[in-house]
Amino acid sequence: MRYSGLRVIKEALTGHKGWKPVWRDPEPQPHYDIVIIGGGGHGLAAAYYLAREFGQKKIAVVEKGWIGGGNVGRNTTIIRSNYLLDGNEPFYEFSLKLWEGLEQDFNYNAMVSQRGILNLIHTDAQRDAFTRRGNAMILNGADAELLSADQVRAEYPFLNFDNARFPIKGGLAQRRGGTVRHDAVAWGYARGADSRGVDIIQNCEVTGFRMENGRCLGVETSRGFIGAGKVGCAVAGSSGRLMAKAGMRLPIESHVLQAFVSEGLKPVMPGVITFGAGHFYCSQSDKGGLVFGGDIDGYNSYAQRGNLPTVEDVCASGIALIPALGRVRLLRMWGGLMDMSMDGSPIIDRTDIDGLYFNGGWCYGGFKATPASGFAFAHLLATDRPHKTATAYRFDRFRRGYMIDEKGVGAQPNLH
Ligand SMILES: Cc1cc2nc3c(=O)[nH]c(=O)nc-3n(C[C@H](O)[C@H](O)[C@H](O)COP(=O)(O)OP(=O)(O)OC[C@H]3O[C@@H](n4cnc5c(N)ncnc54)[C@H](O)[C@@H]3O)c2cc1C
Repeated sequence: MRYSGLRVIKEALTGHKGWKPVWRDPEPQPHYDIVIIGGGGHGLAAAYYLAREFGQKKIAVVEKGWIGGGNVGRNTTIIRSNYLLDGNEPFYEFSLKLWEGLEQDFNYNAMVSQRGILNLIHTDAQRDAFTRRGNAMILNGADAELLSADQVRAEYPFLNFDNARFPIKGGLAQRRGGTVRHDAVAWGYARGADSRGVDIIQNCEVTGFRMENGRCLGVETSRGFIGAGKVGCAVAGSSGRLMAKAGMRLPIESHVLQAFVSEGLKPVMPGVITFGAGHFYCSQSDKGGLVFGGDIDGYNSYAQRGNLPTVEDVCASGIALIPALGRVRLLRMWGGLMDMSMDGSPIIDRTDIDGLYFNGGWCYGGFKATPASGFAFAHLLATDRPHKTATAYRFDRFRRGYMIDEKGVGAQPNLH
């Protein structure tokens, strides 16, 4: 079924009896050409592009819970391509370009809103670093704009500009950045994949891999064995646990990241802002709530909830930047499982086991990467070669010393 304005009018006039389920609920088949583990954004996008761009047939996505129940439905919805390093920027810019045409592409309203993102500058050294990053972005075909303090004040008058500890000296803006309704992305890709014949199998946990002579033959699941020509793993925060079942130890740790939403307010925040002197970022949802977050909790965990000291830390950072936030009531908060890699950048690569492929290490920036990650993973699964924007995301970079350390903080995942 194609969604359109006319369809909405027709359904409104006929009692909404014509809507169909957005995807089927198929039984697992004994064998597929490609099985993708993980029905998050990345797994669903990979399945969608495999079917749509690479003409693959007989694909399944196997999800232990429900579509959208993982990080794809837990994140703070920010998209951007404001990276410095050559290993990253072309990939994230490719992703932003895919976001720009996504809703027409998969015929689903994902509420892509290019309301802009602004990284605030608080010191002269930071201005130098952000200028360099902005130039790198422009060289890679992205947009970047350096703003003075007065220009920032015109757009965000309520920020604490003259705070003696954290004066605001300007900002680096990317006008094409913004937000996207996160779970609609999962639903849109699921619908697009399903309509091209992909089986989306929910409530089906992968419990192991069947191997023979160094080759992966398929996956053991809570609903029986499913054979596969190729298996792609895209389970984000569960990467370490899943790949351990294949005998692999990853350069990834799982950490908790929390997100927060305030009570609904009238429109106050035109775009996304990030504090440059503390870990705090904020936007306003279409329902009016301020959506914000900060640092990971800082200890290894597979729990999807965080602890109070981080709540205090994030709120303190927020109030240092926006004093008026102290009067706003917090409505709810939650946590998600972050697959933090050692250099802060992801991995999209084959493994040493024939037929087994891996996608993970997204840290807390994987939502914006969803379209490009899905496309690049589909490219790898279909052709056995990396996509041109993802050639740096290899496992062996950690052994060879070719880190993609975007922040320059060294091999410590809790600092990225
Ligand atoms: C609080 C928070 C805020 C964030 N904010 C942003 C942001 O603003 N911008 C941004 O770019 N990124 C953000 N991120 C990061 C982003 O959400 C993730 O990097 C990204 O969603 C991970 O990819 P995914 O969507 O495929 O993961 P998920 O949605 O987590 O998908 C993985 C799926 O694998 C399934 N799975 C796990 N184990 C198995 C198994 N054994 N068998 C079958 N299925 C299994 C899980 O149930 C899950 O559904 C944020 C994350 C959090 C938690």
